[in-house]
Amino acid sequence: MIFDHHLKTGRRQEFVDITALVEADLKAASANEGLCVVFVTHTTAALTINENADPAVPQDMLSKLAQLVPENDNYRHLEGNSDAHILSTLIGCSLTIPVQQGKLVLGTWQGIFFVELDGPRQRCFKVKLLSG
Ligand code: ZN
Repeated sequence: MIFDHHLKTGRRQEFVDITALVEADLKAASANEGLCVVFVTHTTAALTINENADPAVPQDMLSKLAQLVPENDNYRHLEGNSDAHILSTLIGCSLTIPVQQGKLVLGTWQGIFFVELDGPRQRCFKVKLLSG
């Protein structure tokens, strides 16, 4: 079984904390031990794990990413969102998180983020639990 999630992002670029949504899938599936795979089915969005305690951390990441990959830089892609495509590839489109004793094995400060790179849009991501 694959869990489908839909979310509406509110800005062109933002980090959306989806940790609770993934944890809810774990509970619904009664998964005890194994792996949790989270996958995003978009070319201008990404997934990452990082600190979700201080909101300044994702803000700093977005501003540094915008410096590294500017929105406008004489790109060839006519849609005007090449920065989002590049950042999606750099950040990555899937995560694998260990599951132990019914819980995601995340560090104290780690949270799972859906990274919007060309919003606001209606988005989706998938969660698959592999037991064993
Ligand atoms: Zn494009």
